Amino acid sequence: MKPTIALVGRPNVGKSTLFNRLTKSRDALVADQPGLTRDRHYGHGKVGSKPYLVVDTGGFEPVADDGILHEMARQTLQAIDEADAVVFIVDGRTGLTPQDKLIANRLRQLDRPVRLAVNKAEGMVSNLVVAEFFELALGEPWPISGAHGEGVRSLIEDLLAGF
Ligand code: GDP
Ligand code: MG
Repeated sequence: MKPTIALVGRPNVGKSTLFNRLTKSRDALVADQPGLTRDRHYGHGKVGSKPYLVVDTGGFEPVADDGILHEMARQTLQAIDEADAVVFIVDGRTGLTPQDKLIANRLRQLDRPVRLAVNKAEGMVSNLVVAEFFELALGEPWPISGAHGEGVRSLIEDLLAGF
């Protein structure tokens, strides 16, 4: 069975852009793999000879307000629950936000692999753009650019190395 990767993060960090990059499609494909909820945004992808499924949790992002965390916890945690691995995306241009910290708190308790992707890092100095995200204690932050494809392949290869 293909491993399933959930893309998680607050609104506007670039989840859907990364999803499109990882599935090389503009439109989501509906997964035909059994056991998955069908009303999410699934797509197939492949790194080297290794196939995967990716799920974009973006369809459930509410308008930012006090309810955001409840909604994210419910919907996103459900997606995480079905996933074998997680990419947690933060925005290297906006920097670390309180919402990122709350999501990180949940992800640190997970018993499956998580990679912290610092997105929108194109044209930025890698060491500088990732520096503040070490605080999230989710391992080494990976600078990527979903829009330009930079760092994406090595991130997914690393994430899937154990599958
Ligand atoms: P989502 O809400 O997390 O799904 O984020 P989207 O994928 O919709 O992207 C939100 C905004 O960030 C859009 O304006 C994207 O064009 C922009 N964006 C996404 N990825 C990148 C990136 O790698 N670099 C830059 N500079 N902008 C990006
Ligand atoms: Mg989205």
